[in-house]
Amino acid sequence: MTEAEGVEDDEAKGPRREWPLPEADRPQPAGPEPEPIRVGVSACLLGRNVRYDGGHKEYRFLTRELARYVEFVPVCPEVEVGMPTPRPTIRLVRDDEAPGGQRLVCPSTGEDHSEAMRAFAEARVADLREQGLCGYVLKASSPSCGMERVRLYDRDMPSRTGVGMFAQVLLAEWPELPVEEEGRLHDPFLRETFLEAVFATARLRELFRGAWKTKDLVAFHTAEKLSLLAHDPEAYRELGRLVARQAELPRDELQATYSRRFLLAFRQPASRGRHVNVLQHMLGYFKDTLPSELRHEVLDLVEDFRAGLVPLAVPLTLLRHHVRAQGVAYLAGQTYLDPAPKRLKLRSVVI
Ligand code: SF4
Repeated sequence: MTEAEGVEDDEAKGPRREWPLPEADRPQPAGPEPEPIRVGVSACLLGRNVRYDGGHKEYRFLTRELARYVEFVPVCPEVEVGMPTPRPTIRLVRDDEAPGGQRLVCPSTGEDHSEAMRAFAEARVADLREQGLCGYVLKASSPSCGMERVRLYDRDMPSRTGVGMFAQVLLAEWPELPVEEEGRLHDPFLRETFLEAVFATARLRELFRGAWKTKDLVAFHTAEKLSLLAHDPEAYRELGRLVARQAELPRDELQATYSRRFLLAFRQPASRGRHVNVLQHMLGYFKDTLPSELRHEVLDLVEDFRAGLVPLAVPLTLLRHHVRAQGVAYLAGQTYLDPAPKRLKLRSVVI
């Protein structure tokens, strides 16, 4: 397989579209229209008045920014399991005998919601899988939705070691799904990692949505090369071996194995060092075509990025310019250059 297989030379001829990237540079979608990118979310983060006190915790990054590009699937486990709004507070209590080592109880009434919540969560997660979610944003610290460091009571003394009961099932049943808490999304690096994974999941889902062909998987893998190298180089190599053997494998097995490994690769945060390797790899394509002073201009910016002086967007913007100016089709087709819509401002902070 050559690196340029499946990638055509249209990208350099016109302005880049924000999202999705030009069809000619991507595996063809299985259906006539791309499906919306569905993201599960704790309903209170969308401004729904479902909290125990009758209020909400709207997170404006979701409602004002991300909502432009995704279709949210709101879930309030407490309301959906039948609790009223407003309602008495509930908490996680340590119980080493219980599934997951914790129970969900209402201290004021003594009611135990554990079994109902666990049964609900298992059914709801299966339903969300059917809907093809590409990510999930959970409300931090909630005994139902919190992803980590939720108060877990042991004889009235809380430790920050619990996991919300719905979140616990979601994470266990669906380890490849990109999941984050709203509090952690304030961190630009964690936000970027999450968003990259969400949009990569959407691309993968589009590839496998219908009657994909061998050449589609080859083109997809080719276009994802630099993104995979930035996250998990070993995954890129493993997936490459899988693509090369695709004729030997049952189709379902190939799809499942490729999907799982691909998605887990994007759960690995891209590191500064791996980005530097990718940038240098890109620059290699200009070895014979770019004058030395222009190559050094890029190299200086790569070194500035390596030193933590500028964000990735700085050397990448210059490289993107050369990719377009010289019509380097293989690079133009890389998802690494446009991992998500521009307005989400990925790669614009120093990491
Ligand atoms: S944190 Fe979860 S359970 Fe609590 S109000 Fe929000 S969506 Fe509902």
